Amino acid sequence: MIGETAKISIEKTTTSKIDSVDFNNIKFGKHFSDHMFVAHYANGQWDELQIVPYGNISVSPACAALHYGQAIFEGMKAYKNKQGEVLVFRPYENAKRINISAKRMCIPEIPEDLFMEALTRLLQLDKNWVPTQEGASLYIRPFIFASEPVLGVRPAEEYTFMIITSPVGSYYGEPVNVKIETEYSRAADGGVGFAKAAGNYGAALYPAKLGQLKGYHQLVWTDAIEHKYIEESGTMNVFFHINNKLITPSLERKTTLPGVTRDSIIHIAKHWNIPIEEKRVSVQEVIEAIQNGTLKDAFGSGTAATIAQIKKIHFNGIDYELPPIENRELSNKLGQYLDCVKRGTEPDIFNWVMKIV
Ligand SMILES: *Cc1c(COP(=O)(O)O)cnc(C)c1O
Repeated sequence: MIGETAKISIEKTTTSKIDSVDFNNIKFGKHFSDHMFVAHYANGQWDELQIVPYGNISVSPACAALHYGQAIFEGMKAYKNKQGEVLVFRPYENAKRINISAKRMCIPEIPEDLFMEALTRLLQLDKNWVPTQEGASLYIRPFIFASEPVLGVRPAEEYTFMIITSPVGSYYGEPVNVKIETEYSRAADGGVGFAKAAGNYGAALYPAKLGQLKGYHQLVWTDAIEHKYIEESGTMNVFFHINNKLITPSLERKTTLPGVTRDSIIHIAKHWNIPIEEKRVSVQEVIEAIQNGTLKDAFGSGTAATIAQIKKIHFNGIDYELPPIENRELSNKLGQYLDCVKRGTEPDIFNWVMKIV
């Protein structure tokens, strides 16, 4: 079915919106580039591959995703290098991950070559939407939802796969205050924590809002059984630098999302000969390390901010102040290095960057 590039029909916009966007002052997730990719799944295959002008879509009120939540998504970014070429960071990882999410949610997989072809064609067409401003990038949002009109609770038989893109401004990854959550859970053993399933985010909003009302930007999620082990920070993975070793929650229990940024940091740390361990990370060992001064750094990792340093951690009624941000040698260096790789100003020794040609 795929492999023949001609399969994607392209309808170009006649009225670009690009001049209506102030690229020096972009609101996150509010502007969308001129085109979008759409494909439909029915009768056991992905078909009707098209790129059309960005716009509203029509779904039945019985659209299965609206009722039973068969919906998954991805997130990645494109950048422009000094030559004005478009670079995408590790898109094959997102292509793989969307299929891991798909399998868990009984959604048909997207052939990797279809995913890559759709992404490439869309970025070729909307390359002017990739910002050149410092720190800015084009956020890419692939997603799949059950679009069959059916009220029966069963895997739907029709799906829609789309890619939309959105220019985003420089996100300086402001340091965050976090609260270790010991009441609510994001993911349970046997659940869907490892999948980028839409429902995970809806379910996290309420506890996150309670935390924000108390002044914490994000929650640090703990295991659903004892609330003793750390899993993630908000919608980011999390790392702690303790006793010269970098530690991060392992993916073994499938309650932590396998972040591409997380994986990149692990590769870089190994390359830099920084001891790194993926393991169960207890709240207690982190609090003890803060108390005895062996915790040097703590940060979240994800596509949106790359790295978000943690300034303050709340646990059990106490706010723990972490080392000053300017002393965070490791996270500062990692953030800078990753950013340079993504923008093509640092050699791509890991072969992570895909150039759109
Ligand atoms: C997307 C996401 C991450 C980060 O993944 P990246 O691939 O690094 O962007 C971490 N945790 C959750 C819950 C996520 O949804």
